[in-house]
Amino acid sequence: MSEESEDREIHPTADGVRSEIVETVKRFVEREVAPVASELEHRDEYPHEIVATMKELGLFGATIPTHWGGLGLDTRTYAMIVEELCVGWMSISGILNTHLLLAYIIRRFGNDKQRDTYLPRMAQGELRGALCLSESHAGSDVQAIRTVGRRDGDDYLINGSKMWVTNARHGNLYALVVKTDLEADPPHRGMSLFIAPKGPGVTVSRDIGKLGYKGVDTCEVAFEDYRVPVANLLGGREGRGMQQVLNGLEVGRVNIAARAVGVARAAFEQAIRYSQERYTFGKPICEHQAIQLKLADMATKIEAARLLVQQAASKKDKGERCDLEAGMAKLFASEMCAEVTLEAMRVHGGYGFSTEFPVERYYRDAPLMIIGEGTNEIQRTIIARQLVKKYAV
Ligand SMILES: Cc1cc2nc3c(=O)[nH]c(=O)nc-3n(C[C@H](O)[C@H](O)[C@H](O)COP(=O)(O)OP(=O)(O)OC[C@H]3O[C@@H](n4cnc5c(N)ncnc54)[C@H](O)[C@@H]3O)c2cc1C
Repeated sequence: MSEESEDREIHPTADGVRSEIVETVKRFVEREVAPVASELEHRDEYPHEIVATMKELGLFGATIPTHWGGLGLDTRTYAMIVEELCVGWMSISGILNTHLLLAYIIRRFGNDKQRDTYLPRMAQGELRGALCLSESHAGSDVQAIRTVGRRDGDDYLINGSKMWVTNARHGNLYALVVKTDLEADPPHRGMSLFIAPKGPGVTVSRDIGKLGYKGVDTCEVAFEDYRVPVANLLGGREGRGMQQVLNGLEVGRVNIAARAVGVARAAFEQAIRYSQERYTFGKPICEHQAIQLKLADMATKIEAARLLVQQAASKKDKGERCDLEAGMAKLFASEMCAEVTLEAMRVHGGYGFSTEFPVERYYRDAPLMIIGEGTNEIQRTIIARQLVKKYAV
């Protein structure tokens, strides 16, 4: 294999490189993210300065091979970076998630021209990716989408509307999943994925107000006679969209699970500090057994979730499908995060409910991980299907 073709692959990241980049991200979060996160989040303000530093750090190219100007990090390292970012503020990991999901599917399924055209500019953060899959009536049931792409000369003409598109406003390159064959049976055989640059015919029609995950844009997007060249059909073949996006969602689920570990770790770290500073009945509350039980359970569950995340990421790095492992990691970590953030709030007593401490933010951010990238009900059905296959009699 030539040096150039090697550089097009993602190789296991060396331990030294991994710890260096994770340490760099951790310092960035401590200095530039954590001090401003709650303020920006309460104002629902886009973190332009933080994003600029993320670009400088090369994070928009974290998992893009060096051949195209990325850092070429493996999924394991990426998961560790996501955890660190989320210790500071969960929203900023969402800015990377669908961007790197799109980069992953372009690398995995795109042709050379598509890779060479898009990956270098994505690695620099000049092009910023978003995923247009869900619609107002179809989230879990993705085969029910109604956005249609019809061939028209050298273009496809796209009409329809997408919902819940994170990075829609600040992103400029969409992974757009549409129906190119309405008669296909099963319907997923009629679904295709386009690399869709924002342009005439695309309207970001509304920003959706959210419980948490604020500061990052999640929007409805309308496509009206939007023209996308045939050359932008991912991999050059119709009918592969569902398979391509599901493969990409495995990386997305590793991201979501790592986010949950990061948010839970932040909540735990605040709780264990507070438990040593807060005195009741003549002693710090960390000496009350009821609080000790909470701290022990929180820390143990966080460690367990992190191991699941690392296991799923390692499998993805071997080039294997990991819907079972990524599903388990996402399910366990997100449920764990919701529990741990609530426990952290209890440890803080009344202060946990106030906006003066960041615990309330962690608590509001946690449910997204239960819903996003496929709900946990759907995760359970995916896990069970895989298990029945594995243990088939
Ligand atoms: C903040 C946020 C950001 C998002 N970002 C994006 C994005 O960038 N791009 C994108 O394309 N999408 C995005 N999504 C959409 C997200 O993926 C969907 O919300 C999610 O898949 C659930 O779909 P739904 O909301 O339509 O719920 P529904 O599918 O309507 O589900 C409603 C309930 O029914 C349950 N349910 C449905 N079907 C079954 C079944 N077969 N068995 C058991 N239970 C079932 C669900 O688990 C859920 O509890 C985002 C969502 C949120 C909240």
